[in-house]
Amino acid sequence: MPVIEFQIISMQSGIHPTYHREAPVQCVCGKTFVTGSTIPKISTEICSNCHPFYTGEKKFVDTGGRVDRFKKLAERAAKAAAAHTATKEKRAKKAEADKKEVKAPKAEKKSEA
Ligand SMILES: [Zn+2]
Repeated sequence: MPVIEFQIISMQSGIHPTYHREAPVQCVCGKTFVTGSTIPKISTEICSNCHPFYTGEKKFVDTGGRVDRFKKLAERAAKAAAAHTATKEKRAKKAEADKKEVKAPKAEKKSEA
């Protein structure tokens, strides 16, 4: 039977960040727990205690005002669209007025002939 030899390779020293086996995590909901991390102390906005997926509540989660930003963009887009349609209508009216002006002399010419 062949003998398998294992060689234990240790990590290279001086290149790895410090690993904190018991890094405290503090959530804004008040829950604290301990985890392993290279960051010594973690503060978070949402955790399994307060996230709607785990709680089952229909709670609105807006991190960093993304929904507000989207609403502002939508509002601006609606204003731009309204302005675009207004200019289109103006141009159409102007084109119609120009057509009428062009037609009017022709009518005069027909009456002359
Ligand atoms: Zn939480």
